[in-house]
Amino acid sequence: MHTTNRADLVIVGAGMGSGVLALLSAARGLRVVVLERHPGGPRDPVRGELLQPNGLRILDRLGLLAGLDDREVSRTRRFHFHRIGGDRLVTIDYGVLPEPFNYALVGQPASVMRTLRRRLADTPLVSLRWGWEMVGLLRERGRVVGVEAREGDRLHRIAASVVVGGDGVASPVRTALGIRCRIRPYADGYLTLVLPRPSGFGPDGRYYLGRREILGLFPLGADSLYLFYLWPAGDRPRLEAKGIEAFKARLTAIHSEVAPALAALSRWDQVGWMPCVKIVPRAWVADGAALLGDAAHALNPHVAQGRNQALEDAVALDAVLASCFQVGNFSRQALVLYERLRRPRAEALQRLGDEMAFFWNTGNPLIGWIRDRVFATLERDEYLRRKMLELVAGLSDRSFTAWDRVRALGWR
Ligand SMILES: Cc1cc2nc3c(=O)[nH]c(=O)nc-3n(C[C@H](O)[C@H](O)[C@H](O)COP(=O)(O)OP(=O)(O)OC[C@H]3O[C@@H](n4cnc5c(N)ncnc54)[C@H](O)[C@@H]3O)c2cc1C
Repeated sequence: MHTTNRADLVIVGAGMGSGVLALLSAARGLRVVVLERHPGGPRDPVRGELLQPNGLRILDRLGLLAGLDDREVSRTRRFHFHRIGGDRLVTIDYGVLPEPFNYALVGQPASVMRTLRRRLADTPLVSLRWGWEMVGLLRERGRVVGVEAREGDRLHRIAASVVVGGDGVASPVRTALGIRCRIRPYADGYLTLVLPRPSGFGPDGRYYLGRREILGLFPLGADSLYLFYLWPAGDRPRLEAKGIEAFKARLTAIHSEVAPALAALSRWDQVGWMPCVKIVPRAWVADGAALLGDAAHALNPHVAQGRNQALEDAVALDAVLASCFQVGNFSRQALVLYERLRRPRAEALQRLGDEMAFFWNTGNPLIGWIRDRVFATLERDEYLRRKMLELVAGLSDRSFTAWDRVRALGWR
């Protein structure tokens, strides 16, 4: 059975970037339909995530930070990097950045999403459809003019001027558009855990790096600790075969303070798994359609920018759509301005993510030695430390020059 609806804009996937685009578009008077295939809204695994100053600015402008529950999020200024079994290498301090966003917000994605969803539900021009899965695109003379969506055993057609795919790494919208895409799964992903925070664990985040081994520990809200541990993709059976006590013993050997928190860990189903993928599509836009967030540019999580970049996409796409609606032109040529505005920055961060993964995840002692030497230089060199911080915080596009790299190796 088919029902037909009409909207100005259909957004597939209800992640944070999609939600912000829906709010911005509705504020311009557009009728927006957001489709999310999961009946209860997006499902994020139990984990923490960093919202960086660039993302925080966008959320703040929309009043979305005010509603956050301080028991669920941490404003973290300092992140300490240690060599496993060795010294502290460098401390990155967001406190040196301009106020008010001189911190990274650590929270479970669901905390911010809850506030965003409440706002969307209260916005009359936005219609949220949970449990609606986009199954195809409607086309007229080669141009996208809407979507077909399945809700249980019902089929719906929604006609729209523009369709936006904010539908993640696998992006059914990208596939339906026939956009060819380079998909690079990284060799390593992350085991993730949220545990009770041990009493002695302070307000700072910590990274421990070794030979193809990384443990990250971030305070999460008032009394939780977010723990992530690098692990080769597809190799979980080897981990589980060793037993959960061996896993806990290894984490405790790296940072003994986590021992009391790990008392709460007794089953493997408490441990999440996050694979890491890079996505480089041939194009981000087509006639009547555009991609946003991971669908357009998933990147290695070392940069901690994926969701923040999706927020920047939303702001840029909103501005481009505003002029498209003014002149009634939704062609690829009209939408490509969005891709030109956003793609160079997203790809620069993808390259930074690749470089970080190469050095941080390495099992090669020589590359590990170079990594540790660069960290140690950053600790001494305020200029390079600040430059790196501003890149990761999303406040600058200035990548390291060849001279910066020589300087980072300590040769100058
Ligand atoms: C280990 C790890 C750590 C990370 N840490 C950080 C961090 O600290 N900071 C940061 O900014 N980023 C981080 N990221 C990246 C971040 O999680 C992603 O960039 C972000 O979730 C992308 O959001 P999205 O909305 O584009 O896609 P998604 O979050 O994947 O959302 C896509 C949505 O589309 C829906 N959907 C898919 N297909 C359909 C369909 N056919 N119909 C309807 N709905 C559909 C899905 O159900 C889903 O809800 C990390 C990633 C990893 C792997």
